[in-house]
Amino acid sequence: MSDMTASASPADVLIVGGGIGGLSAAFALAREGLRVRVLEQAREFGEVGAGLQIAPNCTRILSDYGLLDEAKRLGVLPKSMVMRDAVDDAELTRLDLTDLERRYGFPYMVIHRSDLHGIFLRACRTAGVDLVTDARIVGYENTEAGARVVSEDGRTDEARVVIAADGLHSVARGLLSDDEPVSSSYVAYRAAVPIEQAGRDVDLSEVSVHVGPGCHFVHYGLRGGEMLNQVAVFQSPKALAGEADWGTPDELDAAFDATCPEVKDGISLMWRDRWWRMFDRDPIMTWVHGNIALLGDAAHPPLQYMAQGAIMAIEDGWVLARHAAAHRAEDGSIDWRATLTAYEAVRPEHCRRVLTTARAWGELWHLDGLARLQRNTLLRARDTYDYSFIDWIYGPTALTPEEEPPMFAPIPLGSADISGLTR
Ligand SMILES: Cc1cc2nc3c(=O)[nH]c(=O)nc-3n(C[C@H](O)[C@H](O)[C@H](O)COP(=O)(O)OP(=O)(O)OC[C@H]3O[C@@H](n4cnc5c(N)ncnc54)[C@H](O)[C@@H]3O)c2cc1C
Repeated sequence: MSDMTASASPADVLIVGGGIGGLSAAFALAREGLRVRVLEQAREFGEVGAGLQIAPNCTRILSDYGLLDEAKRLGVLPKSMVMRDAVDDAELTRLDLTDLERRYGFPYMVIHRSDLHGIFLRACRTAGVDLVTDARIVGYENTEAGARVVSEDGRTDEARVVIAADGLHSVARGLLSDDEPVSSSYVAYRAAVPIEQAGRDVDLSEVSVHVGPGCHFVHYGLRGGEMLNQVAVFQSPKALAGEADWGTPDELDAAFDATCPEVKDGISLMWRDRWWRMFDRDPIMTWVHGNIALLGDAAHPPLQYMAQGAIMAIEDGWVLARHAAAHRAEDGSIDWRATLTAYEAVRPEHCRRVLTTARAWGELWHLDGLARLQRNTLLRARDTYDYSFIDWIYGPTALTPEEEPPMFAPIPLGSADISGLTR
């Protein structure tokens, strides 16, 4: 067996997977002075060309990393998020994102995925992270000194600790659970196009969400408003019938047939050569196996209704690095057992809450008939400035279980992070 890299310089931490989760964790650990190597299966580091919403619990961390200004230059800072009914376009509820920034101290942003991924990639390069491609990891084992990984072509690498950020189909997750991805029978279509191609008036000061029976449609601007990002999600009748070939473009058109013109006009722009069947997994509360730990979608792939998947991955890396720093001895060595224990004490419960809430949120968005009308009545009654349903998500990321706020209750946001509350 040969080593994974030509230099074979030893790393303190190996990270498997160079998505947003893996790279952000690599940067977080490298800025603590650790030697970090990322092992990515693809030939090049990269992300799909569509948008991401990043809420204050993420922009707070980007600010801590010194990366928020770059993200702001590349993204869009919308003024409001508006939820409407996809059948009649009636407004149901809204968030004032300017007030939201005042409340949490950090902005709500939308950004191209490849731009956010690129920010972390450049930050990793600057921080001296060893970035290795063409390394598909198929095996993991704990060793006396740490943990070892084996690639598809038989190469090995070893470090004090291995972080598996290898996504929904994580190989490492098999060490901890025999579960499988859970199909939602919903499928997502995406489009990110120059704004001139929109073919309609689009208000890019909004993140717009239309919720409808068995479907929803999201749009917002990217790259300072040069691009329009759209996501169209629907439940596939073929998936429900157990057919293998599900989520096809004919199903997309049928799913949005009864929606309002504001939505239908957008559907014609969707990419039709690729679609994303939506899977999550049941929450698991054990993420650590000796010196091997899960991070990001490998640990907690959600349905995307709360737009927190990438954010949770970024939070994982931030929490891990903060605990590594807190468990550093005078000689510079890290107590990894204590670090991973502290990480596992706080992150699984938070992510479990997000995963289960995302499932419930999806059901609420996709209601039909009387239930849809009841939902609309309740959403219309919500005060724009009632933050009780998001405080537990958008507030400061907890480092300990004691810091994790209760769900759906207003929390005191009196920390140094908060620049001032309006209400
Ligand atoms: C339609 C849609 C919209 C979404 N919108 C949002 C949003 O607005 N906000 C948000 O926060 N989240 C959103 N998400 C969720 C978010 O995209 C994911 O949660 C996030 O990208 C997960 O990042 P990750 O790095 O953990 O995993 P991934 O992005 O899956 O990265 C895993 C990496 O590991 C590599 N890899 C896999 N297996 C191996 C192996 N064996 N060896 C080596 N490398 C390997 C892969 O090539 C990949 O680079 C959305 C998801 C979808 C589907």
